[in-house]
Amino acid sequence: MSQLSPVLPSVTPATAFNPTQFDTYVMATYGRFPIALVRGEGCRVWDSEGRSYLDFVSGIATCTLGHAHPAMVKAITGQIQRLHHVSNLYYIPEQGALAQWLVEHSCADRAFFCNSGAEANEGAIKLARKYAHLHRGIEQPVILTAHASFHGRTLATITATGQPKYQKHFAPLVPGFHYIPYNDIDALRQAVADLDGSTPHIAAILLEPLQGEGGVRPGERHYFQQVRQLCDDTGILLILDEVQVGMGRTGRLWGYEQLGIEPDLLTSAKGLGGGIPIGAMLCQRHCDVLQPGDHASTFGGNPLACGVALQVCHTLETDDLVANAQYRGEQLRQGLSDLAWRFPHLIADVRGWGLINGLELTADTAVRAIDVVKAAMAAGLLVVPAGAKVVRLVPPLIVTAPAIEEALARLSQALSQVATAGGASAEAGKG
Ligand SMILES: *Cc1c(COP(=O)(O)O)cnc(C)c1O
Repeated sequence: MSQLSPVLPSVTPATAFNPTQFDTYVMATYGRFPIALVRGEGCRVWDSEGRSYLDFVSGIATCTLGHAHPAMVKAITGQIQRLHHVSNLYYIPEQGALAQWLVEHSCADRAFFCNSGAEANEGAIKLARKYAHLHRGIEQPVILTAHASFHGRTLATITATGQPKYQKHFAPLVPGFHYIPYNDIDALRQAVADLDGSTPHIAAILLEPLQGEGGVRPGERHYFQQVRQLCDDTGILLILDEVQVGMGRTGRLWGYEQLGIEPDLLTSAKGLGGGIPIGAMLCQRHCDVLQPGDHASTFGGNPLACGVALQVCHTLETDDLVANAQYRGEQLRQGLSDLAWRFPHLIADVRGWGLINGLELTADTAVRAIDVVKAAMAAGLLVVPAGAKVVRLVPPLIVTAPAIEEALARLSQALSQVATAGGASAEAGKG
């Protein structure tokens, strides 16, 4: 802040937090926790009161390299001094370099860049529809998505999202979506038989390799392999939403590597820019059907976002962070399983891949995920709910072994606290 004050003396530093100002002028679209984070370093963040927290949220699985990582600071300052935005009217070298890195490190052949996960999925939906019209003569294409999925908050992506709570009050939704249970091959075969009976209608199947928002539910290998086979047999495109699990979070670069299959299209966003907004849709050559004028984004793929994302990609490689995600993830799950032993009345399940993990609370406890999240925050640990009964832990991929131990100690403290309070409220509930 000090270097800004001579230039803008009348501007209140953003670090001086004013909750009344915030609530007066900002739409109330989020249920916020009553703290304001103003500084971060590595896996740690500080609030406006000077309290520090271990950050196992990472801006919802986005801050791949944690906070104030020297490689990001260098990439951002260098890029903003050189050139930050020009539009896609012109070639952008950083975009070409990032596309090459992503293509060389995935099953895809081409990339399109946008600014968010929802926008990446919108692009994939448009591409799949065009492919169906062009190559399969489908006039009213349908996309299958899973119950409990999450694909974003635009109209098409809330429609794709198989959770009514995100769709309530926003009708009419977008036509052309149909829902199936996740990890259930018989249900998928039935839906295909019903919808594609005499003439084909199904353009694509859109799935998360692991359902993040829907409760940290990993996909099953056997299921996904059969989905892949079904797509190969029918010409239906397989789209994987890697927005939350891609970019090394699962201990593999892409979630699909956990499943032993390759999608026709995949989308990425959250971790791609390390916290700088960027999204990408990647496709294999055979479904690369978008032509000039079909799809666009003013900000998409600008030099700043692509330059930083490329630095995130290079740092993943040079610092071996995908392997770190795998090993630290094993350590974290071991610790969470120990907690499950100690709190059997509270914890029903521990699951996840790499550094995306969920702690599911038992059905018979009155304790909700939000109660654990609040208690953890009081104990100096940030974690985030994934639905009513699952606590999600998604630390930066740079997380160290001592930081995992510290997080487990703080979570243990939080669980002891809610176990006492939750037990009392469950008793009270009976009376
Ligand atoms: C977060 C998320 C999205 C939406 O991304 P936004 O950047 O918020 O638009 C889509 N799909 C999945 C799997 C996500 O986790």
